[in-house]
Amino acid sequence: MPMDNLAFESGHDHQHCIDQALQQARLLCRERQQRLTPVRELVLKLIWQSHQPIGAYELLPALAEAGFNSAPPTVYRALEFLQEQGLVHRIASLNAFVGCPHPEQAHQGCFLICRQCHSTSELDAGPVHATLEQSARAVGFTIEQETVEVTGLCPNCQAGEGSDA
Ligand SMILES: [Zn+2]
Ligand SMILES: [Zn+2]
Ligand SMILES: [Zn+2]
Repeated sequence: MPMDNLAFESGHDHQHCIDQALQQARLLCRERQQRLTPVRELVLKLIWQSHQPIGAYELLPALAEAGFNSAPPTVYRALEFLQEQGLVHRIASLNAFVGCPHPEQAHQGCFLICRQCHSTSELDAGPVHATLEQSARAVGFTIEQETVEVTGLCPNCQAGEGSDA
């Protein structure tokens, strides 16, 4: 049940993205016999509130409001779990987290990040990986970990360029 990646489609039914992400997370955790505790699930839901990566500290007020321990270690532990399960990715250049639309398969991250609205879309990293692998091998380098973050302008922000809005 792979999800569509609708990050750059303005006006899409985002509730559908959220519902699908949560449903998929529950299913995967059950299959893997991992516990998607209420705090982990809430953190995942908060990260999925948009396609813009969100920082750990931005999650704290909502956790407190929901009655959870909102101390940073609680959040970091939840984020660690979600990353381990491939449910979220860390975007290093923004020091923030974004939901993964296809967590059922382990993969390298390859992201298009809009510099203006910060919407982030995940690409199929396969072809990029193959090219990087080849170039790395040519200089005798072994890749161990690979996250590709590309910045630019999303279709929505390109449409807005030129106007002052
Ligand atoms: Zn969406
Ligand atoms: Zn992913
Ligand atoms: Zn944008």
